[in-house]
Amino acid sequence: MNCNHCGTTLPEGVTVCTVCGTPVQAAMAGPEILPVRENVAMGILGAIGGALIGGASIILLSRLGFIAAISGFLIAFCTLKGYELLGKQLSRTGVIISIILMVVTPFLAYNLDLIWQFYNELKVFGLTLGDCVPFLVDLIQEDAELMRMYLSEMGMLYLFVAIGAFSTIRNAMRKV
Ligand SMILES: [Zn+2]
Repeated sequence: MNCNHCGTTLPEGVTVCTVCGTPVQAAMAGPEILPVRENVAMGILGAIGGALIGGASIILLSRLGFIAAISGFLIAFCTLKGYELLGKQLSRTGVIISIILMVVTPFLAYNLDLIWQFYNELKVFGLTLGDCVPFLVDLIQEDAELMRMYLSEMGMLYLFVAIGAFSTIRNAMRKV
């Protein structure tokens, strides 16, 4: 502790400076630095919102005739940013929660889109959405070429998720 007036180093506990007599202000330790308080619940909400936006982009891009792999990037980016935005901070917890969402969302969105496309082709034959699911599963399992396409599209999607996650997390860490 130093005297605020003359700068003399003072022993702990003195109330006036031993050199100049200036009262020692105990409160002069400086403003307390408040750490950013992470809000995990809001963060999860943000991450889910982001994942939904990213997942919707798969379906939207596919409607427009684009290969949806780039949506993988969007899913990762929106999920992590969603957590950071509402949770105030992208912590290790946030990253783990986001990774779970980044694994589940592309799978759900991609398959939902596939089932929906399939249904649109087959509804004229009187098939319901519920009929389409086992039918599509059988079709993919029996046709090696379809299986190859299915796996490669899914693989591309997850590759873009990984790229998006890596770059977004790296940027968030750099900011700290
Ligand atoms: Zn002094």
